[in-house]
Amino acid sequence: MELLEVIDITKWFPGADHPAVDGVSFRVEPGEIFGLLGPSGCGKTTTLRMIAGFEKPDVGRVFLKEVDITYWVPEKRGTGFIFQDYALFPHLTVEKNIEFALKARTTPKQRSDITELQKLLELLELLELTGLSKRFPHELSGGQQQRVAIARALAAKPALLLMDEPFSNLDASLRETTRREIRSILKKANINAILVTHDQEEALSFCDRLAVMNRGRVEQIGTPEEVYLLPQTPFTAQFLGRSNMLKGTAHGESADTELGPIAITPPQMGDVLLSLRPEHLILGAERKSPQELESVVISKEFRGHDLTYRIRCNDRMYLVHTEYKHNFEVGQRVFVGVREPGVVLEYR
Ligand code: ATP
Repeated sequence: MELLEVIDITKWFPGADHPAVDGVSFRVEPGEIFGLLGPSGCGKTTTLRMIAGFEKPDVGRVFLKEVDITYWVPEKRGTGFIFQDYALFPHLTVEKNIEFALKARTTPKQRSDITELQKLLELLELLELTGLSKRFPHELSGGQQQRVAIARALAAKPALLLMDEPFSNLDASLRETTRREIRSILKKANINAILVTHDQEEALSFCDRLAVMNRGRVEQIGTPEEVYLLPQTPFTAQFLGRSNMLKGTAHGESADTELGPIAITPPQMGDVLLSLRPEHLILGAERKSPQELESVVISKEFRGHDLTYRIRCNDRMYLVHTEYKHNFEVGQRVFVGVREPGVVLEYR
């Protein structure tokens, strides 16, 4: 049995010339952290708000544990919500903010779960909030307020926790640690969650599976590895990291392309559009195989863990990521090879 099933939901806002959400469907399995990833305005928040009950779809259905909750009020759904702006009660201390959520447990199952109180204390400790329990929200930093909001949402023991860009107000280093901690808490407490984010790295590292959204529609659903390594559409290939797009003529498991004959996946016949990640190309100062093509380094960018080169080969530009030890100069003649199969994309 899936925990959540969203079937073909569509939402038009008055006066808009296209739907904000356009026939979106996906399932969330028990224990799963699911992501909605896409650029600003693609309909992630509206989708989440229809699951929470703050918006009603014009078309489509939402099932939670096989019950149709499409038109239920938010309070009856057993879902928790974490907003970007935390929405803490300003007149209540950290402790009281969290206690409020404990008292608001709505279902009998939630109320009978006394051991959760114990878990909550552990949670406070884990989120490093124990020493701050008597403070008011305005006496906390952004990161601390965020952690209170998360503790409060978890205290309500939601059947499903809905999170809308919850880490976006934290600075880079705190964001990564908080993300890691929250993921481990959700997994330990076996809490299902949906994360809305426009940040690729965040979605890939936080979610078990995710839906990539574009213009109100789902482009692809899969594990982080699947959507990154096997993108199905040009949008997914380019939104998740960088990608070289290559046209070719396919003959089963290989294709003739501007970079010569290369392996492809999945097998295909005829005209194809292929995605090749920059790290799936390789550069060398000398030609190591007849397949490698002569190129010239146009620019070079140091990225800490690796180098990104822009090279020109047969009048076309390509991006290549290499380890730092492969150090070439701008203007240098190099040879480019392909070390992974090109991924066949769908034309739309
Ligand atoms: P962001 O990351 O910027 O929050 P998003 O992917 O979450 O973007 P939504 O907030 O769901 O996108 O918005 C989808 C579209 O619907 C946008 O074009 C937005 O302007 C529009 N929209 C959202 N809420 C309303 C509303 N209440 N009234 C009218 N239009 C709206």
